[in-house]
Amino acid sequence: MSPRKMQCAVVTAFGQPLSLQEWDVPTPGPGQILVKTEACGVCHTDLHARNGDWPVKPTLPFIPGHEAIGRIVAVGAGVKIVKEGDRVGVPWLYSACGHCDYCLSAWETVCGEAEFGGYTKNGGFAEYVLADPNYVAHIPAGLGPKEAAPLICAGVTTYKGIKETQARPGEWIAISGAGGLGHLAIQYAKAMGLQVCAVDIDDGKLAHAKRLGADLIVNAKTEDPAEAVKKGTNGGAHGVLITAPSLSAFNQGVGMTRKRGTCVLVGLPPGNFPLPLFDVVANCITVRGSFVGTRKDMAECLAFAAEGKVKADIELQPLASINQVFERLAKGDVPSRVVLDFTGNGEAHTAQALQLEAL
Ligand code: NAD
Ligand code: ZN
Ligand code: ZN
Repeated sequence: MSPRKMQCAVVTAFGQPLSLQEWDVPTPGPGQILVKTEACGVCHTDLHARNGDWPVKPTLPFIPGHEAIGRIVAVGAGVKIVKEGDRVGVPWLYSACGHCDYCLSAWETVCGEAEFGGYTKNGGFAEYVLADPNYVAHIPAGLGPKEAAPLICAGVTTYKGIKETQARPGEWIAISGAGGLGHLAIQYAKAMGLQVCAVDIDDGKLAHAKRLGADLIVNAKTEDPAEAVKKGTNGGAHGVLITAPSLSAFNQGVGMTRKRGTCVLVGLPPGNFPLPLFDVVANCITVRGSFVGTRKDMAECLAFAAEGKVKADIELQPLASINQVFERLAKGDVPSRVVLDFTGNGEAHTAQALQLEAL
């Protein structure tokens, strides 16, 4: 009996197109679960991973994808907290040690032994994905898999990032980058009672930001964004969240921050940016990194969506189109979020559309 096969998109060389391959369906070992993927969002992080952009690179070959939603189809020995049939998400924070200082203080996102979905562990650009049941997202009833997919990275990252700005209801937040992360950040910020200024370099994204509730929009290409935000918010935003994958957005973001405000960095373009020391010191500005979110943040951010306060804008594509999706993402041509649809609806999504290469 040959083992069951699954289709998957594999990074075999950094900077090169993904290869569509057929791999054996993995078997869950003790403490693991197997999830049959229904949908998986495509995050700009997957593109950084494909390009080998960051100091710590994944081991080749690997399957990207950290916004996978699906049903559990098999559980390994000893798994008690989930069962077959449950709908879960397999996120970036794939697992953590559970007993270090960070894990014990609900900062499992910075655990030194953390594993990352679609990076150090194979991810959701595949028909099946293994997961650690202790770290999966539990998808509330009433939230479909395709709508849930972007929430388990873009949603939780921006929800947590907004909290990290410590901006309070009625105050201003400036959100730099209105793409996959940013379009959700705008909605979370409005739902949390903030006044929102959206900053992007694309008029289409800014028009959409306005439709999503942004009170002010700024095109960083046609005007000085720091000046425009300061003017529009009467002195600068109390909180700034930088999601743009562009180094120039980082200096600009610090410049948008009000005195005593907090600028939270979540975008991850490779490189460094210079901080204007005098301005940061003399204006008592806090600059802070933020990395996805904890399991508690995940549950909270999903609850907002289950209550209808936040909704991901999604464009469905088949797994076979992943390389075209990456090309568009690199150029800023994806309106909000592409979600790979594994449910086989529509002829473009059938297995026949895949140009499979033998492993
Ligand atoms: P995306 O491509 O969907 O959106 C990026 C947006 O930024 C686009 O709308 C683009 O037009 C805009 N942009 C580009 N340059 C800009 C500039 N100079 N000023 C303002 N806007 C600009 O990407 P995404 O999926 O939202 O991811 C964004 C970044 O966040 C990536 O670097 C990704 O790796 C990172 N990320 C970080 C975390 C984390 O935990 N910190 C989690 C997820 C993603
Ligand atoms: Zn992501
Ligand atoms: Zn730990």
